[in-house]
Amino acid sequence: MQQATQTYRGRFAPSPTGPLHFGSLLAAFGSWLAARHADGEWLIRIEDLDPPREVAGAAERQMHALASFGLISDAPVVKQSERGAHYQAALDTLLASGAAFVCHCSRSDLADGGGVHRACVAAAARPDPAIRLRVPDGTRLSFEDGLQGDFAQDVAAEVGDFVLRRADGLWAYQLAVVADDAAQGITDVVRGADLLDSTPRQILLQRALRLPTPRYAHLPLVVGADGRKLSKSLAALPVDAADPLPAMRAVWHALGQASLAATGSGSVDRLLEAMRRHFDPARLPRTPQLSLAALHNDRDTKPD
Ligand code: GLU
Repeated sequence: MQQATQTYRGRFAPSPTGPLHFGSLLAAFGSWLAARHADGEWLIRIEDLDPPREVAGAAERQMHALASFGLISDAPVVKQSERGAHYQAALDTLLASGAAFVCHCSRSDLADGGGVHRACVAAAARPDPAIRLRVPDGTRLSFEDGLQGDFAQDVAAEVGDFVLRRADGLWAYQLAVVADDAAQGITDVVRGADLLDSTPRQILLQRALRLPTPRYAHLPLVVGADGRKLSKSLAALPVDAADPLPAMRAVWHALGQASLAATGSGSVDRLLEAMRRHFDPARLPRTPQLSLAALHNDRDTKPD
């Protein structure tokens, strides 16, 4: 069968909730390298949907940091805060088809079921209801992740009917990410494994909206020596935009790539070019977690 060749298009989608940490840099480089390896495009999208969690100036600082590593979006940077009309259109489609419904349940209404919504049990109507996607009983979904292999989830039992627009009027990440990945023509999502269990929800939404499903590859989450997610610990390896080369080398190593010792790499541009040329996707780590301690020990025994 003849298949239309589709240009690879990847993306990096940080939330502006703080400075770039090592884990987010791994996703940024992982997605950039995979896109460049496929002669594809790479876009940056700012996921600024949650004003209470945002830090003033963080988006600009993240862009500045990415630029200091040579990572520049191939298209104008999209900000989710400016895309409400698109999310509303997607929501209207889901409401019209009956896939989404208005929900008056409060957190305490759902407490007995562990927060999982299976049916409306609201004690009273709220002036500000949420909107959820209906996930019928028995909805199981599995997909083949490019790094983590087969991933299966019983979405009905484990997640339940999930929120698309919150009671406070804010758009839920799941709806926005699906609408934007489709609108931007993203073919390949490379991101952290903390989002692995969000992917079945996103695939359900893509199906309900008749949108294509991109390929997914989830990079291991970098954890501190105590096993805690790095972004939640005291940024063990802070990303220093003023001195990008050490962080680039650490990222390269964490991505399982062969040493670049032989390549001259005194400048960001030269190192980035060497990374682009030598990147081997087959070497990417396939575990759900990567311990920072193991990375350090490994580094001590190998010349860089
Ligand atoms: N904005 C999300 C984050 O910073 C990433 C979303 C995604 O890559 O799908 O965790």
